[in-house]
Amino acid sequence: MLIVPEREIADLMTREAAFAAVEKVFAAMASGRAYNFPVVREAIGHADALYGFKGGFDRAGMSLGLKAGGYWPHNLERHGIINHQSTVFLFDPETGRARAMVGGNLLTALRTAAASAVSIRHLARADATVIGMIGAGHQAAFQLRAALEQRAFEKVIGWNLHPEMLPNLERVAEEAGLPFEAVELDGLRAADVLISITSSFDAILRADQVVAGTHIACMGTDTKGKQEVDPALLARATVFADEIAQAVSIGECQHAVARGLLDASEIAEIGAVINGTHPGRISESEITLFDGTGVGLQDLAVAAAVVDLAVAKGVAIEVDF
Ligand code: NAD
Repeated sequence: MLIVPEREIADLMTREAAFAAVEKVFAAMASGRAYNFPVVREAIGHADALYGFKGGFDRAGMSLGLKAGGYWPHNLERHGIINHQSTVFLFDPETGRARAMVGGNLLTALRTAAASAVSIRHLARADATVIGMIGAGHQAAFQLRAALEQRAFEKVIGWNLHPEMLPNLERVAEEAGLPFEAVELDGLRAADVLISITSSFDAILRADQVVAGTHIACMGTDTKGKQEVDPALLARATVFADEIAQAVSIGECQHAVARGLLDASEIAEIGAVINGTHPGRISESEITLFDGTGVGLQDLAVAAAVVDLAVAKGVAIEVDF
């Protein structure tokens, strides 16, 4: 069995490789060659932790396995390590033998950023120049970096409930040589592309704060009860998701569906756009909305890519198991 420790991931995985792996597995999901297993997520009654598994099988990429992990809210203060902890396990689909164990923390941020970047590549207007961010935490910086590579953006604007975190976005804009402006929610109307990546449990953005032609990637809502945008926005938009079943149960779509503003049959898989079986954006004035809930197959796809890179570079640790 191969082990790729967390400390090696930053030197191995690139945004480009994460993008390619996620785009490919979304395509495989939409063509029925890959599927996710039901998600397990439990409050374990110890250390206030939420722990669970996300897994699946990708017959196209021959990845089988799961990501195990979750959220330990006291890690930083008690143990000096980050609160989100995860590990990916890959198995040989021919034999069921364990193939690899891979650090999943950085990979999670890269695969989540890759998902919204894939949606921007396939759904945003080609002439988009202003990107707007809602959220400025750990994931937001990864999201912005990957998004900036998808269009010739000229400006970054951002809003965050906690304005003291906005420098996290400003730094990424500066790295890319772009100006950054902090705005009120009304100011987000200037954006051609929007990403929401917060841990909010209430709608932040109203439907009238998004103008015609915008593409919005809603990335923060990955649990029942979380919410970032007004459900009326989903009624107004053409809605896409990584996986429809997950979007209507734990994604941003859950609220619009519960209020009868959206039916699951009206949601398209982003993989169908990648495969060319769905036209994607069909007009310059359409609002496209991507509900990125985060699926196990994304984790397996980036972990499998990183194992190949680690083997090629000679840094994978081989153990007799
Ligand atoms: P973080 O703690 O670093 O940042 C949280 C962000 O949410 C900050 O911008 C904060 O100001 C904002 N926020 C907190 N409470 C809020 C509220 N009540 N209203 C509005 N904004 C609020 O967290 P992170 O690691 O950046 O993760 C952000 C979100 O992304 C989380 O909800 C996480 O579960 C989700 N996430 C989704 C995926 C996916 O695949 N879709 C993957 C990883 C993380």
